[in-house]
Amino acid sequence: MIVVMQPLAGRDDVSAVISRVEAGGCTVHETSDDGRVVLGVLGRDALALRDALAALPCVERVVDIAPPYKLASREWRRSATVVSIGGVAVGAGNPVVIAGPCAVESWEQLLATAEAVKAGGAHLLRGGAFKPRTSPYAFRGLGAEGLKMLRAASDQTGLPVVTEILAPGDIDLFVQHADALQVGARNMQNFPLLDEVGRVGKPVVLKRGMMATIEELLLAAEYILARGNTQVILCERGIRTFETATRNTPDLAAIPVVKQLSHLPILFDPSHSTGNRRYVAPMARAAIAAGADGIMVEVHVHPEAALCDGNQALLPAEFAALKRDVDAIAAALR
Ligand code: PEP
Ligand code: MN
Repeated sequence: MIVVMQPLAGRDDVSAVISRVEAGGCTVHETSDDGRVVLGVLGRDALALRDALAALPCVERVVDIAPPYKLASREWRRSATVVSIGGVAVGAGNPVVIAGPCAVESWEQLLATAEAVKAGGAHLLRGGAFKPRTSPYAFRGLGAEGLKMLRAASDQTGLPVVTEILAPGDIDLFVQHADALQVGARNMQNFPLLDEVGRVGKPVVLKRGMMATIEELLLAAEYILARGNTQVILCERGIRTFETATRNTPDLAAIPVVKQLSHLPILFDPSHSTGNRRYVAPMARAAIAAGADGIMVEVHVHPEAALCDGNQALLPAEFAALKRDVDAIAAALR
């Protein structure tokens, strides 16, 4: 961390800042540039001093050198983290495909979709039992019943299941039924929920908030890692911009950026990022080409009858074609 003093700061001001830093357990290296004093602050506790130093009238600004997240950073861990979801390795080089309906609507719909995505080559099943909906009158999922159906469909097809948890209090239910816990975009900064999923030994798929920066996404991951759960997978799902032609704006640049800043695997969700079936496959292909560790895609056997997000659901045949493309792109990249 670097502390830049005000041009008119006197010797007493500089000494006071140095004493403050040393009292905080850090060391200081003093230099000056054109008469202005610049202090290099070194030490593990430097971040804790940051705001107090920045608030001093004699300090012009504080410049961070290290990122504010630690456990999620590439500096902390150079090699890529591989997370296993029920034996399926995410981040090991082979793109992982997670597919299934937006929501569990009935046993018949879930099983037919699970079997269809399995036949199309999916590695993992997705589906929401507890749905975060903008309107309280929309279909909000089958709840605990839906979770049980997901477990049964997973057992029947052999596809491990990823499903979204909304409330910290539901954690035991999810640990019992899910192979991976999804924290959705709307809950990326639900800190009690992050704490709770950080406490358990299940992989977590953490989606980027629709108004979150990449740094905020990595800080949300840091909450989970800091609680002791190292099995974190990030997911880019599009962000809100001024563009209205797509539901969100897919931020594909987040994939190489996250790869540079963090050791954690990152998936891409072409369904929520575009909101339109026509754009799902092109963006999924682009994400794999950009280095994503996999995709999470919505599929429905009857999109026209879906209770949630039918507009962006692929038909099983479209999904199977996309899976072939994903494999071809991955092979070409190798
Ligand atoms: C979902 O994947 O079911 C979902 C609700 O996505 P998001 O949190 O990205 O909106
Ligand atoms: Mn959806």
